[in-house]
Amino acid sequence: MNYLIPILTFLAGSLLATVCYRRLMARQAVRKSATDSERLEVLRQIDQMILSNVSLEEIAERITAVISDTTSILGGVVRTVDQRTAGSLTVLAVSPNFQAASEAAGPGLVQKTATAAEMALARSRITQAVNERRVVTGEQLRDFECPLLSPDEADTVQKTLGIRSIVVYPIVVENRLSGAVSFFFTKPAAKLTKEDHSLMQSLTDEAGIAMENTRLLCQLEDMNTRLEEANMHLQTLDATKDEFISITSHQLRSPLTAIKGYLSMLLDRDFGPVSRAQAPVLRQIEQSTSEMINVLNDLLSVSKINAEHFELTRAPANLEDIVTSVVSEMKPLAQEKSLTIKVVLPSQPIGVVYIDPLRIRQVLINFIDNAVKYTPKGSIEVHLSATSKEITCEVKDQGIGIPKREQSQMFTKFYRALNARKLVTLGTGLGLFVAKRVIEDHHGKVIVKSVEGKGSTFGFTLPRAALSQPDSLEAQREPLAVMEV
Ligand code: ADP
Repeated sequence: MNYLIPILTFLAGSLLATVCYRRLMARQAVRKSATDSERLEVLRQIDQMILSNVSLEEIAERITAVISDTTSILGGVVRTVDQRTAGSLTVLAVSPNFQAASEAAGPGLVQKTATAAEMALARSRITQAVNERRVVTGEQLRDFECPLLSPDEADTVQKTLGIRSIVVYPIVVENRLSGAVSFFFTKPAAKLTKEDHSLMQSLTDEAGIAMENTRLLCQLEDMNTRLEEANMHLQTLDATKDEFISITSHQLRSPLTAIKGYLSMLLDRDFGPVSRAQAPVLRQIEQSTSEMINVLNDLLSVSKINAEHFELTRAPANLEDIVTSVVSEMKPLAQEKSLTIKVVLPSQPIGVVYIDPLRIRQVLINFIDNAVKYTPKGSIEVHLSATSKEITCEVKDQGIGIPKREQSQMFTKFYRALNARKLVTLGTGLGLFVAKRVIEDHHGKVIVKSVEGKGSTFGFTLPRAALSQPDSLEAQREPLAVMEV
């Protein structure tokens, strides 16, 4: 589903560009064919209408009005063809003089749409122009305008208006038949000049552009509707996915937390002696359980961020204690890989700060867990320092580092650098995304410095000003149970 939006957006953009391009090309074509000021003025007016996005019917009406206003042409009819209904022809507009003469002649002009079969039955020569896509000329109006008019009505109109020749131009745009324009003249076909044909061609082209634009705009609207529908569907799917992840993570985390608790009691010998052989196995199980809980915590945070339910629960806390306890919790993991892990605390106590302690713990766990994961050998240092303005915490490792070109993407959801994926296949790419959000919600900044093959430093700075006052509303809330580990 995700691929639909970019594709539809691209198509919609291309269509819009095509519409604009067509208008430009049409104007140029019209300018070229214009030979006198009257024709230029007529076409300029139609151009303006096309550019100002008026409806197709209005443009067709303008074309027929213009036709009857010109000195050379008497009147005309603009028709559009509908390919979906097997090529039926619908009258879009008739010139005012033709309209008046027809009304005077009888009840004609009722049937605006004629099917291809009806046109053939009436032996209208417009069918010939349309089917053969060529200009057709004749002298009897009844040969063209039936079944729009009855044969008698056609004869009367012809007489009233003094029509001596009829010319039909098919409207073909990019090899697609769009309709036809009938032109009526008071002079015989043999007397039609090159200029007459040039004007008819230009007017037909204008009608074609208007029709093509309408078709493209309809297509654009249709795509927009589909885009909106696809978007809504995606949003629903996304919300369902977040809800599913949230429920599943909650359900999985409770038993895992219980398992971790019992394992810790077993390792503390609360249930009796543990053999030398059993102890490392239990530690390994405890470690893996902690990792699973960490992943679930990240998943829960992400679904809260997506649902815009992510909030801090600030409480008075001591950062030195948090750093020390997280490091001692992560130490066995580092030791398993023979990595040393060292903590450097500030010489002066930082004092009480109002932070979300569980979320800051989660950030530190992620940084240290990554340092361990992505450091094959060497040491890790956790530095906590403070000035009167800000508190800084950094986790430095001597690991694989991050390729320069990928560093800007590190805090993007699900992003994992290629070298990291090669070294450790398992990983969610969510830890840093969550960490950034937690730190920024504390009005702080994340730190990332890395040299590929040499090591990385991940950390954060928190401004003291944002940590000194408890947010009264937040401080009253219970700490989030979801973050308990
Ligand atoms: P995960 O570790 O599960 O892949 P994270 O969001 O924690 O997800 O990290 C995202 C990516 O950032 C990692 O996949 C890795 O490419 C890079 N990264 C994070 N920390 C380190 C580090 N200490 N050393 C090298 N690369 C790191």
